[in-house]
Amino acid sequence: MATERVPWLVVGGGIAGVTCAEQLAVQFSENDIYLLTAAPLIKAATNVRQVSRTLEEFSVEEQASSTLERQHPNIRVISSPVKELKAAQQEVITEDGKHYIYDRLCLCAGARPKLIVDGNPYVLGIRDTDSAKTFQSHLAKARRVVVVGNGGIALELVSEESRLGSALGPDWHEGMNLKATQEFSRCIHIEMECEVQRILLSDEFKQLNVPAQAVPRGNAAQNISTSNTAEWPVYVELTNGKLYGCDFIVSATGVVPNVEPFLPGNSFEIGEDGGLKVDDHMRTSVPNIYAAGDICTAAWTPSNLWQQMRLWTQARQMGWYAAKCMAADHLGEKIEMDFCFELFAHVTKFFNYKVILLGKYNAQGLGSDHELMLRCTKGLEYVKVVMQNGRMVGAVLIGETDLEETFENLMLNQMDLSAYGEDLLDPNIDIEDYFD
Ligand code: FAD
Repeated sequence: MATERVPWLVVGGGIAGVTCAEQLAVQFSENDIYLLTAAPLIKAATNVRQVSRTLEEFSVEEQASSTLERQHPNIRVISSPVKELKAAQQEVITEDGKHYIYDRLCLCAGARPKLIVDGNPYVLGIRDTDSAKTFQSHLAKARRVVVVGNGGIALELVSEESRLGSALGPDWHEGMNLKATQEFSRCIHIEMECEVQRILLSDEFKQLNVPAQAVPRGNAAQNISTSNTAEWPVYVELTNGKLYGCDFIVSATGVVPNVEPFLPGNSFEIGEDGGLKVDDHMRTSVPNIYAAGDICTAAWTPSNLWQQMRLWTQARQMGWYAAKCMAADHLGEKIEMDFCFELFAHVTKFFNYKVILLGKYNAQGLGSDHELMLRCTKGLEYVKVVMQNGRMVGAVLIGETDLEETFENLMLNQMDLSAYGEDLLDPNIDIEDYFD
């Protein structure tokens, strides 16, 4: 039985784990930093650009682990999944039978797609390069696909298919031909305010003896092969009573944290979303174990303008901050919560437009106690501001609005803007000058 003693152990070669390992490697150049990962490649943030105080833009690249080891000679990447964690002994056991006794451990094993049903071959989730390839091969033969969800992934799939945009913000589908058969790729139909009631296989549908819904016409490209008389391998029944046939279903309905290998025999506190609860020092409830990225649930009392969202930005921020906290605890130093957790800030691209989300951009948790202000120039820009008690608490900026820095400052300093009323979004007023 091979056992190694390691001062710093990080699990997960995604953005959170790699950022954490990199930060530890810089701070403790005389120590070896061990990074255990299940995947053959690691993910690194490249082309990092600070857009404003809290907004950061970067690309995510899959790299060979040797690249990381070359950049940081004190990082050792071990490509073997964790099989077991014995927290009482501070010991991690990998699938290849090795044992690692750690001083401090950071768990960054990410999350996987939450599928609307498990075990149905016609229901796909997209998580990594392999699942994206499976999706691509299904799509190549598809006449009609149902996408469930209206988050970033769903929007990207639909926008890619609609040919309105390409090479969108995230790069997971770069280099892939995400095109279905000709007729499908021109017709998008959206059903709002409904959920999937059940999924029926072809035989189950036939037994129902009811017609399936035709995709509403009005789109010139509606093709005869996707009419209501076509036969489909799978059918989706919605809570609004409609029933659609399709070739397969993409479940883009959130994620489930990968906590399973770490739980047996250990007393982790688990959040409502299934993540490992962490405090404001990224510490789990188990001594000397920290967590960062998609696997964790932020269980501290957050700033009024921040919420956890499982995104690259936060995986990177949490990975970096977890390393700083691990170091501070090791050195017996105090550490303040990092400034990036003051304001939720995310930049991405959809339909080839720059999209910036700030604070409570969707009035999350505000109930009816808020007002919205809008400015929209068709094809150019869309600005939505969320106001509460005369203060700006959130914003969505689409297009080249140049408003991000000013709005970020207005949110951070919580200035009373009641006196400005609608002027706040008046395109004829140079707002940047106004509040300088
Ligand atoms: P991950 O990147 O999931 O990494 C987890 C790592 O842990 C992997 O290396 C894995 O191999 C390893 N691991 C898992 N289990 C074990 C184990 N038992 N032992 C050892 N290692 C293990 N976010 C954005 O901000 N912008 C986007 O545009 C965007 N697009 C997305 C598109 C898709 C299709 C998906 C699925 C997600 C997208 N996200 C996006 C979300 C983003 O990918 C995640 O928030 C981010 O990757 C989380 O990083 P992480 O390091 O916490 O986890």
